[in-house]
Amino acid sequence: MTAALDIAGIAVSPDHYIDGRRVPSAERFALHSPIDQRLLGEVCEGGEAEVEAAIAAAAKAFPAWSAMTAAERLPYLERFAEEIGRRAEAFCQLESNDAGVLLSRMQHGVVPRAMLNIRWFAQHALDLQNRPIETEQATHRVRHDAAGIVVVITPWNAPLMLSTWKLGPALAAGNTCILKPPEWAPLTCSLLADAAHAAGLPPGVFNVVQGSGANTGARLVADPRIARVSFTGSVPTARRIAQAAGANLVPCSLELGGKSPFIVLEDADLDGAAATAALMYRNAGQVCLAGTRLLVHERIADAFTAALRANVQKLNVGDPREAGTEVGPIIHPRQLERVAGFVERAVADGATLLWGGARHAFGAQYYQPTLLTDVKQDSEIVQNEVFGPVLTLQTFSSDEEAIALANGTDYGLGGVCYGETEHAAAVAERVRTGFIWVNSFGIRDLAAPFGGIKRSGVGREGGDWSFEFFCDVKDVVLPRKPFKASFSHR
Ligand code: NAD
Repeated sequence: MTAALDIAGIAVSPDHYIDGRRVPSAERFALHSPIDQRLLGEVCEGGEAEVEAAIAAAAKAFPAWSAMTAAERLPYLERFAEEIGRRAEAFCQLESNDAGVLLSRMQHGVVPRAMLNIRWFAQHALDLQNRPIETEQATHRVRHDAAGIVVVITPWNAPLMLSTWKLGPALAAGNTCILKPPEWAPLTCSLLADAAHAAGLPPGVFNVVQGSGANTGARLVADPRIARVSFTGSVPTARRIAQAAGANLVPCSLELGGKSPFIVLEDADLDGAAATAALMYRNAGQVCLAGTRLLVHERIADAFTAALRANVQKLNVGDPREAGTEVGPIIHPRQLERVAGFVERAVADGATLLWGGARHAFGAQYYQPTLLTDVKQDSEIVQNEVFGPVLTLQTFSSDEEAIALANGTDYGLGGVCYGETEHAAAVAERVRTGFIWVNSFGIRDLAAPFGGIKRSGVGREGGDWSFEFFCDVKDVVLPRKPFKASFSHR
């Protein structure tokens, strides 16, 4: 076992967690804070041996864990949620330090939600096996059996939230799991292993193998012993994962990027719309479901832009660990270069900068909240996900045009539509995305479906959709009348 890292007084293991114990490996990768680039420590990188050990452990644990009823698994998972809560402050500090997420958001949003992700699915698994379908001929006892070993792969922008969002239903349904955390922000996933251990989850039920995507992740998803891959991340990675898993006919759930429209109709509450639009800079814009394409009716565009400018001027860009900060750093120098490159090319291509467009004076990995207008629908900046604090603004003169612009990219994750409620709802229904918020943003319920269409993803998570993915669904058919064998029977 390697000595724990000390992050702001919080001890966190740099080792993997396999078969109920900490496992070091010789290969390591350096982890820096996006806030001030200081070295946080070195974290173990899993290779062939660690991946093999995790798969073996998950396979060994599967028969007993999957044979339990959901009611028998419930106390383990309730304790898992409690142990997350017991470490709330540590989770907040770690993700704020390694991913740059606002400490206040961790405290009030992410950690409570992580606990709920585990608890809610554990409770909702209780009636999974008791949903018969009655027909004239038979009773169909539809079983939802655990599929086997689940590989969970998550991105750096919300590691704790997204990992628990997948682990909750996967574990509750009786699967054993291997989590591959993001290499730019792996610390809260490591602490999750401590919480699972303290909760008494049997060895091998939950494993964490750290490392890069190309090495550790690729090995995991290519293994034929895996039953499911649940992935959140970018489109190029999704293609690689789908190919590797597809070679073994292993189902994948893919939650990918977005370029979501934020529509402001002529009859919108402008102040409300502008205040919500400013939220798109949250997490320095590193949010998959952000409405980054502002589509505004031409008659209100000037007033809306002025209202948004007033909101943006008030944004407090700074250290995510400090109360009152609203916009933090960009995760990695490479991501910062990517964001800056998008803006430079857009300006070179004729876009007008309304604000921002440069690095922010607060620190080396900060970028100014930015708005670009005079952008063409087929331009790179409109068609591609920037994943930084960069919005575009286009105008329209009719609902038809707004809908055409909204639907005019390869992405289809989310959206926002501001306007008189029924008018906005009617427009929202015609926008081709997995979800869309009317006069609001970010309302998410664990029972509701979440996911994207087109290049934004394959499959849905949330409520029963998660269970459908993580289970083998089986129909046990009991005829109503004694069955008479006959060759002419249908
Ligand atoms: P990424 O695709 O680079 O990496 C995501 C994860 O995949 C990481 O853990 C990485 O190590 C792993 N990985 C990379 N290559 C792999 C391979 N060949 N095999 C297996 N695993 C591999 O994404 P990122 O840059 O970490 O995250 C940003 C992206 O995630 C954005 O596109 C964003 O929109 C998306 N995202 C989507 C959602 C959603 O719910 N739809 C939520 C958050 C983020």
